[in-house]
Amino acid sequence: PMDVLVVGGGPAGASAAIYAARKGFSTGIAAERFGGQVMDTMGIENFISVPYTEGPKLAAQLEAHVGEYDIDVMKLVTASRLVPASQPGGYHSVEFSNGAVLKARTLILSTGARWRNLGVPGEETYKTKGVAYCPHCDGPLFKGKRVAVIGGGNSGVEAAIDLAGIVGHVTLIEFDSALRADAVLQAKLRSMPNVTILTSAQTTEITGDGSRVNGLVYQDRTSGVEHRIDLEGVFVQIGLVPNTEWLKDSGIALSKHGEIAIDHKAATSIPGVFAAGDCTTVPYKQIIIAMGEGSKAGLSAFDYLIRTESV
Ligand code: FAD
Repeated sequence: PMDVLVVGGGPAGASAAIYAARKGFSTGIAAERFGGQVMDTMGIENFISVPYTEGPKLAAQLEAHVGEYDIDVMKLVTASRLVPASQPGGYHSVEFSNGAVLKARTLILSTGARWRNLGVPGEETYKTKGVAYCPHCDGPLFKGKRVAVIGGGNSGVEAAIDLAGIVGHVTLIEFDSALRADAVLQAKLRSMPNVTILTSAQTTEITGDGSRVNGLVYQDRTSGVEHRIDLEGVFVQIGLVPNTEWLKDSGIALSKHGEIAIDHKAATSIPGVFAAGDCTTVPYKQIIIAMGEGSKAGLSAFDYLIRTESV
């Protein structure tokens, strides 16, 4: 049994474990893939004080930093169930798909999220070569160029507004017959001169020249006619899915989007269980935010452990 078990080894989990270990608590991290989404990222330009780095490099640095402490790192393990302690101060159990069970007085859940993929030819091939998911991260790479944003919900329309201020031209593509974003965002978008909005349009392929995106193909769902647009970038904005499916029967409070509900101290609805990063209700999913939230969860676990009698 441990004092602190961190589930998830991305920026949030690494930060939480370091903060917990620095308080002298026995700490472990259990993660499917150390580094998390950072492993899928090429250039990172908004990790403040580091003007430029790359995902695999930052992931290796996270692991090296964790390695400076007495932290038990368990990789390639997938949590499948959480059984909360029966009383405050008791041990929570986390079950893994390989049959292992780990017990800890406090848990920090940091299983992150994944962008919903479009699932069309070209998307996988051109990921990080023109296919992007994060306008805050990759928008400036397309300065002056032509991009499409796929998805007409709030995140798609926000992304299109954001990008229209940076890139040359934005085509917003929505599958449905109308945008679903808030009216105020739609009005803002429609007022921008370098934006085209297409509705009832189904993206069927992202095309490229072998090394970079050069266009996309969509079908007009009303006429059935296929069209091609020449462009340099495609931002897919059809949802960010939190990795919280494994928590469904634990009784922990989730938002309607499946995010773990946390308060300003990273506490969840279960005493002694904290959460941090992209798997939570924290607004804005970014590396620097995930790290800040992880450190907050680590300090909250410390606070809980010194105040709660062990049972
Ligand atoms: P994640 O990084 O998602 O890590 C989750 C961890 O939990 C992983 O270790 C994973 O294997 C593990 N896990 C998941 N489920 C389980 C389970 N059931 N059991 C055990 N372990 C589990 N942000 C920026 O700030 N700047 C950028 O330039 C940037 N670019 C990005 C580019 C791409 C392509 C992507 C996908 C994201 C980008 N982001 C960027 C966002 C950033 O990567 C995330 O906000 C950040 O990684 C979130 O950290 P996290 O620790 O909360 O979750």
